Amino acid sequence: MSTIKQEAARCLQCKKPMCRLNCPVDTPIPDIVRLFQDGKIEEAGEMLFRNNPLSAITSVICPHERNCTGHCVLGIKSSPVEFYRVEEYVSRFYLETFTIPDIKKNGIKVAVAGAGPAGLTMSMLLLLDGYEVTLFEAQDDIGGVLRYGIPPFRLPRDLLKMYKDILLRLGVHFRPNTSLGSNITIKDLFPDGYKAVFVAAGTGRPNRLGLLGETLGHVHFAIDYLKSPETFSLGKEIVIVGAGNVAIDAARTAIRKEHARVTILNYKGEDDMTANRDELEMAEIDGVQFIHYAQTIRILDNAVRCVRVVKTENEDGSVSFEEDYSDVFDVPADSVILAIGQGPGADLKTGNVQLTQRGLLDVNEWGETSRPGVFAAGDIVTGPRTVVEAVAFTKKVYTRMKEYLNGLDSNDPEEWTEDL
Ligand SMILES: Cc1cc2nc3c(=O)[nH]c(=O)nc-3n(C[C@H](O)[C@H](O)[C@H](O)COP(=O)(O)OP(=O)(O)OC[C@H]3O[C@@H](n4cnc5c(N)ncnc54)[C@H](O)[C@@H]3O)c2cc1C
Repeated sequence: MSTIKQEAARCLQCKKPMCRLNCPVDTPIPDIVRLFQDGKIEEAGEMLFRNNPLSAITSVICPHERNCTGHCVLGIKSSPVEFYRVEEYVSRFYLETFTIPDIKKNGIKVAVAGAGPAGLTMSMLLLLDGYEVTLFEAQDDIGGVLRYGIPPFRLPRDLLKMYKDILLRLGVHFRPNTSLGSNITIKDLFPDGYKAVFVAAGTGRPNRLGLLGETLGHVHFAIDYLKSPETFSLGKEIVIVGAGNVAIDAARTAIRKEHARVTILNYKGEDDMTANRDELEMAEIDGVQFIHYAQTIRILDNAVRCVRVVKTENEDGSVSFEEDYSDVFDVPADSVILAIGQGPGADLKTGNVQLTQRGLLDVNEWGETSRPGVFAAGDIVTGPRTVVEAVAFTKKVYTRMKEYLNGLDSNDPEEWTEDL
């Protein structure tokens, strides 16, 4: 394996860097590489952090093959530059040596609900610009999916500790175990002097299959399992329904925790799987079994009943999938884990802030909800996506929120908080 210096040296410094153009958060990759090569690691770290406060995390868990690495021109004929390795080193160094800059406080209070990637990004941007931030989090610590979803063997938890430390040093007021929308509602915030609210509550509610057997004692939702795998006891035969990234994380965790045989049931074929290729490869290395073209139709006490799915390539080039109910089979299971997507959590009561048909928060392209002063970003707006996309959208929302806060003198908050 090359060293990160050798990797940086391979960068061609393209005039039109395809890596940067395909990075959702527009990381100035050639500039970072140049600074790194010139030994200006603090400057490179500062540039990364200011562009993407979570670069120490995205460098580790971004789907690089879809973003920077996947678009490096060197990849056309040989191996692409693995910029994320340079980014990880520089970003971690920056966090480890972070010094609080001089910040002129402006005394303006903003509430942030949700301490996942979107809420963390917004909190840091606000604090660095002198705003006073209260961060409400339903769980007992920061991170969102970074802590309660992505397994530690993929994302080291010391990174979250460093972020929490930075937030506290920047002066955040952190309210853990506090769900906005239960005891405290959005409506309660404005009379206490908050001038804006940012909602970043993610999509923490697992989708249901809607099949018989789903309430049985040996059936669990993947995101519930991943929250605290140590509290589950799953037996020796574990079947996972669903084949996306969440299913892969649950499978790889179960193999490690339970020393079990883990089988993933995939509705489509191997090539149609949505999970990242490198994650899939590692799942195979770990020993996860796959049954492709299998549709679950019922969960039994000790098995998952499936029918075979048939893939057809149509004349117009499209493909379709159809269940063949004459081909039924059972897959033995001590436990079943369901990983078929997520939606917004039920505990977020947003008053009359408008929702979409899917129950997500309805916002315009700047993250403004139907209520003045209430903004939103991250999965609660887009549905489940990626960390870097949550950061990118949050940055955009922040620019609009700042404009809003700057123009507040001309608004009369009393007028519009009444009916929230
Ligand atoms: C298992 C799993 C693996 C993933 N792997 C990757 C990956 O490898 N790479 C990648 O880029 N993306 C990955 N993702 C997707 C990525 O984690 C999400 O897109 C990202 O976390 C979204 O950030 P968010 O801040 O919008 O939401 P979240 O991370 O969900 O954070 C929302 C936070 O809000 C809190 N909250 C909820 N309701 C309330 C309330 N009413 N009041 C206060 N707080 C509240 C929640 O407790 C949570 O902490 C993965 C997702 C899952 C589930």
